[in-house]
Amino acid sequence: MAWFKRDSDSGTKQPSPEGERTVRTEGLWLKCEGCRQIIWKKDLDQTNNVCGKCGHHFRIDARARLALLFDSGVYQEHDKELTSSDPLQFVDQKAYRDRLKATQTATSLKDALISASGTLAGRKVRICAMESKFIGGSMGSVVGEKITRAIELGVKHREPVIIISASGGARMQEGAISLMQMAKISAALMKLDEAKIPFISVLTDPTTGGVTASFAMLGDVNIAEPGALIGFAGPRVIEQTIRQKLPEGFQRSEFLVKHGMLDAVVPRAEMKQWIATALEFFAGPAEQAA
Ligand SMILES: [Zn+2]
Repeated sequence: MAWFKRDSDSGTKQPSPEGERTVRTEGLWLKCEGCRQIIWKKDLDQTNNVCGKCGHHFRIDARARLALLFDSGVYQEHDKELTSSDPLQFVDQKAYRDRLKATQTATSLKDALISASGTLAGRKVRICAMESKFIGGSMGSVVGEKITRAIELGVKHREPVIIISASGGARMQEGAISLMQMAKISAALMKLDEAKIPFISVLTDPTTGGVTASFAMLGDVNIAEPGALIGFAGPRVIEQTIRQKLPEGFQRSEFLVKHGMLDAVVPRAEMKQWIATALEFFAGPAEQAA
């Protein structure tokens, strides 16, 4: 998200390195990545962070996602305290342990996913929402375990599962353990499938790597928000490998629907109704929730 600071008194758009006036107005305005126009941030609150001028979908966090989908924004959170044990004692630029701690403080989350249950259009569902602000929404042992538990409870209580992906892929700080989550979640989804309970995969900007390569593409329907970056490897890596220039819009939702990789592009404002209709198609009308 491209932020810029506005000096309200002088009217200049030059960002000053420090100063009280800059601090006061910081974050009031932002430049749309879609149409490059300046948007008043308050306007975005009214439109669920979709640009009113061009329809560009800004990224939103996991809590905002859940609030949009659950009836009255009410849900129960599960496995909230699960946290990584740093099995490899991994250190890169800093220790993984410290990176986790800092991110936990910054996001008030223990890891990159919220697992929740509640009702969607009167139907009991389980929704897992990934948080891209947490180490790039990377999938480690905690994300894998929380999703797996949510699916298993979905089987047990016969409740549909919805996973909202926003991820850079596997978490390299957990090495092979993070890769194993792909198989673990996929196996759990197989059981959900055998029990004939629907799984809807919602891909949001960005969904890449091991998440695309596993559960994000295993939905009974796989849908995405407009303009989302979805892929396995990044475009630069692919261009270097195949020595060809990639077509315009490659790895964006609309391109992927056109080429049969996704079932639909669904705008944020229509997402809840779209999912409710899909669930009704798969599982029949929702029983009136108590
Ligand atoms: Zn725009």
